[in-house]
Amino acid sequence: MGHSWSEEAWRFVLVVLAGTLLGLLVGHVAAVVLVAVIGYVVRHLYYIHRMQRWLDDPYLGKMPAHFGLWGSLYARIHRLLEAHRRREAQLQQQLEQFRRTAAALPDAVVSLGPAREILWVNEKARSMLGLRIPGDYGRPLANLFRAPALRQYLERGDYKKVLEITAPGREQRQLSVRAVPYGDGQLLVIFQDITERYRLERIRRDFVANVSHELRTPLTVISGFVENLRANPDICPEAWRRPLKLIDEQSGRMRQIVGDLLLLARLEGGEAQLREAPVDVARLLEGAAEEGRVLADGNVKFQVRVESARQIRGDAGLLRSAVVNLVSNAVHHTPAGGQISLHWVDEPGAGCLIVEDTGEGISHQHIPRLTERFYRVDAGRSRERGGTGLGLAIVKHILQVHDARLEILSEPGEGSQFICRFPEARLVDPGQRQATDESRIADHSA
Ligand code: ADP
Repeated sequence: MGHSWSEEAWRFVLVVLAGTLLGLLVGHVAAVVLVAVIGYVVRHLYYIHRMQRWLDDPYLGKMPAHFGLWGSLYARIHRLLEAHRRREAQLQQQLEQFRRTAAALPDAVVSLGPAREILWVNEKARSMLGLRIPGDYGRPLANLFRAPALRQYLERGDYKKVLEITAPGREQRQLSVRAVPYGDGQLLVIFQDITERYRLERIRRDFVANVSHELRTPLTVISGFVENLRANPDICPEAWRRPLKLIDEQSGRMRQIVGDLLLLARLEGGEAQLREAPVDVARLLEGAAEEGRVLADGNVKFQVRVESARQIRGDAGLLRSAVVNLVSNAVHHTPAGGQISLHWVDEPGAGCLIVEDTGEGISHQHIPRLTERFYRVDAGRSRERGGTGLGLAIVKHILQVHDARLEILSEPGEGSQFICRFPEARLVDPGQRQATDESRIADHSA
């Protein structure tokens, strides 16, 4: 380019020189130089015009042949266009491949624009969601879907969770929804048919609940008789005393397991009726610490720190049961002389209820599995002290129905921290509570 440009500059100097010489010969230097420069400019204007016409459709029109500066410009533009054409073909191919892959997916895929309007859907989305294409393109997905939970999910913008909903117009079909943000405010929404998994889960849940329920009556009868026999030494032979004591203990344990399983089934199936009200966390922690003190029999020190005045909107009974569970675990795993702290503190966007101990701690490999039913680090020891292995599973589910999460931090030999994180939406300022009470009173009087 530099070379052809200097060539062109020389060409202009030559035109001016030739004009000057000719002007000297005819005696009108200025006029002849002016005519030569005008001629030079007109030639370039003509070339610009030709280039403009060619650029209107560079792929169809034949590229004009040129040399010098114009030739080099044409060659460069041509190279750029070729590179662009190759890239376009490549993108087209990739797009085609993506379309074919998305079409072959067993899940419904819907791409949404910034206003959550439908931009594109795959083949499966038409049959699974009943979308009409191209008629539904450009329409907001939530309007076509009449599922308030989906509308909230799309509006809230927290796509870490997977949503489960009933398919539109098909009550028996369950779908899981997962959204993935991409590009400039766009969203890829993936719908998966989980009807079968849902059905199997329900069968499992119902089975456990039914078995537990059926076991409850025989267990109560056995316990009743054993209790009676033990309470009347005159009708109970001496040799039976020890076996009866063991039967009593074991049937008590079974009753505990059955009770825990039934509670879990209720929590899991969403059947637990939450009696929601603002729960005073200071009182909750004091109560749990008191139970812990009795259980620990003076062997460990207790500390309660309440650094937030906020209350939790939830079921006081269930929350109490969760905290007492954590405290009783802490007591069982903290040797004499240790300390157990109960702490309520504000965190950005959450309220944290922490039960911390200076006990034996837990090895890393066990931590992710502790909330599984019947998972115990040392099953023998847990059974010995009457543990069912269901405590943390219950805690997790109680927190879940309160939209809260359980986090476990622990180091062997250095104690454990069980952190229950309640989202902002579950927290109530005491002042706010008063306002709600007042409005309730006002409602009554009206
Ligand atoms: P369990 O009836 O055995 O207490 P949980 O579900 O309550 O059942 O607890 C599961 C396991 O987690 C326990 O068996 C124990 O190994 C471990 N664990 C729970 N809390 C603590 C703690 N504070 N310190 C150490 N280990 C703990």
